[in-house]
Amino acid sequence: MDYQAANDLLKDRVILVTGAGDGIGRQAALTYASHGAVVILLGKTVSKLEQTYDLIVAANGPEPAIVPLDMQGATEQHYIDMASTIEEQFGRLDGVLLNAGMLGVLSPFEQIDLASWETVMKVNVTAQMMMTKPLLPLLRKADDAALIFTSSGVGKKGRAYWGSYAVSKFATEGMMQILADELSNTNVRVNAINPGATRTSMRSTAYPGEDASKLKTPAEIMPTYLYLMGPDSQDIRGQSVDAQPK
Ligand code: NDP
Repeated sequence: MDYQAANDLLKDRVILVTGAGDGIGRQAALTYASHGAVVILLGKTVSKLEQTYDLIVAANGPEPAIVPLDMQGATEQHYIDMASTIEEQFGRLDGVLLNAGMLGVLSPFEQIDLASWETVMKVNVTAQMMMTKPLLPLLRKADDAALIFTSSGVGKKGRAYWGSYAVSKFATEGMMQILADELSNTNVRVNAINPGATRTSMRSTAYPGEDASKLKTPAEIMPTYLYLMGPDSQDIRGQSVDAQPK
């Protein structure tokens, strides 16, 4: 996307980023902070979240907050408690980037392992729903709020062997559309981003033989992440946006 964000695009906005310790989410957290946002860093591995925290502080960004949470085991109560803590500390949320996700196992459909399927659905679908529910009242308290899901090319057109991951991303597209419709007359814009092939550990797991140097880096796809999070996309609702359009 050819978009040049103002330096202060997200000034004083409070934005939750999931999967903020690695890959695209880490870059999104750094980018949002560098545009003025107070970022709440959610992820599974505390040491990775601390690294993101340190990088933001070293760059003189607004002091972030850390929320360690394993979305595989978390219950509804964990998300309700998290929302209460955010409300106490910040009073509102201006944005949420639902980026954390897992690939699971790629295999022929006939060989899908039920336990692996259920884990992928828990993290990529059920956890997103459980997290979003208690965060919606906080998003409604903002003047202009953005809720962004993370999709995938295989969530728009099925592909052989992508089993549970692809099904979870179709579900993500559906969840985004349902919420966008329900919230169409509110201050909360709901959209999704399909990052496209991006140089991260998830991508190298899915395509081990690929020359990763030919892929876009997370930093290169940030214009789309900024555009959909900030006020310049105020009229965009219910869209699944390709960060790397063909
Ligand atoms: P990475 O594997 O690099 O990062 C995934 C992030 O999600 C990590 O920070 C990880 O935390 C977090 N995460 C995974 N499982 C859990 C869990 N159970 N609880 C909490 N956090 C968890 O992936 P990418 O950056 O590549 O992917 C980001 C998003 O983009 C995903 O939704 C992915 O499906 C999507 N996507 C990526 C593409 C690509 O080419 N890279 C293409 C299309 C879509 P930790 O490191 O602590 O495990």
